[in-house]
Amino acid sequence: MSSPDRAYWKPAEETLPRPALEALQLDRLRQTLARVWEKVPFYRHKLDEAKVSPDAVRGLADLRRLPFTTGADLRETYPAGLLAVPPDEALRLHTSSGTTGKPKAIFFSRQDVDNSAELCARSFVATGMGRQDVFQNMMTYGLFTGALVTHYAAEKIGCLVIPAGPGNSDRQLLLMRDFRTTAIHITPSFALYFADFLEKHGVDPRQELALQRAFVGAEPYTEATRRKIEAGLGVRAFNSYGLSEMNGPGVAFECQEQQGMHLWEDHFLMEIIDPGSGEPLPLGARGELVLTTLVREAMPILRYRTRDITSIMDAPCACGRTHRRIQRITGRADDMLIVRGVNFYPQQVERILMAIEGVGRNYVICLEGLDEMTVKVELSEAGMSDRPEPMYALQDEIVSGLRAEILTKPKVELVPPGALPVSEGKARRVIDNRKL
Ligand SMILES: [Zn+2]
Repeated sequence: MSSPDRAYWKPAEETLPRPALEALQLDRLRQTLARVWEKVPFYRHKLDEAKVSPDAVRGLADLRRLPFTTGADLRETYPAGLLAVPPDEALRLHTSSGTTGKPKAIFFSRQDVDNSAELCARSFVATGMGRQDVFQNMMTYGLFTGALVTHYAAEKIGCLVIPAGPGNSDRQLLLMRDFRTTAIHITPSFALYFADFLEKHGVDPRQELALQRAFVGAEPYTEATRRKIEAGLGVRAFNSYGLSEMNGPGVAFECQEQQGMHLWEDHFLMEIIDPGSGEPLPLGARGELVLTTLVREAMPILRYRTRDITSIMDAPCACGRTHRRIQRITGRADDMLIVRGVNFYPQQVERILMAIEGVGRNYVICLEGLDEMTVKVELSEAGMSDRPEPMYALQDEIVSGLRAEILTKPKVELVPPGALPVSEGKARRVIDNRKL
């Protein structure tokens, strides 16, 4: 059952028996409700509308009677409409990585700042990381929570922290070599790009670098992409999940078993709902993740619609942690594409592509005209040299794989390695220029 290098940050919290964990959740939920009722007019109004007073919540099953909070609510209450502490008790401001319009402003109190690092430290230790590690943080520093929260978490553990930020692969490699970096935090698209970079420069990470683990998050990615990252960087890649609205990184994290991400249930209540109807779905069903903060001080949030699609895994984990796991995120409710009347997520295309031999690390889905879909797929170096003849066979394999998965037949264009624009930040996988 247990692996020899099993480690906990605080075992009492991570292995709390289920009934005690649920009692703690209920207690914290009631405190959170009382707090927002008293301090946040936005929530008092919403709770009144839903005809729920904080005392009316007697069990966790009453959660579904509470109102949702959406991304639009956060934008409409911008800048400080959800603040539940006096302004001088707010210690840090982050904004969410929003796309357009007003950002979502997220306030942290001193206790929130500490808790966010604590949760992330707990997550890192669950992967086997310890104070001897050298942590190179290849995420964007700034308003985005991704880098700062992990930075303080690694310092909490006692690692040497290198705040490298993203991009500049030459410098990343220099730092990795000279300071014997053992752990990195990186987006999946930059990880693939960096693996290519190492290959092009003839660097064998297993021989020349000290890398052991990569914490990969901020964008959804597939199991096949994980395997490419692990092979290309010579690491174990751990899937992580977070969002600024809740904590930043460290909301859910894989342990050494690498089978789903433990969602820290002493800090968050989770539900899975149908993204269309908003109705709760049965345990194990795939749908939209909804989260409620349980210990957030500056900005508690009730039933936040994350728009992320996943499912809850109820089975116990071999690592001994009792907090339930979620499956890797398979898409955003907002990313869903509708082409010729068929719904699918870009990650489904990725899952098919990454499983086909000869396919490289980059692809893009182009939508044009009246619902014409072309998938441009980079070949791998091996895919190029193994197939000097016209590549009809590979093309056919991709088309039929995609057709079986997404139930519509796209055009497939094969391009040489490196032909598609690369990304050192978040990847752009869909270009939609349709005139519908
Ligand atoms: Zn586990």
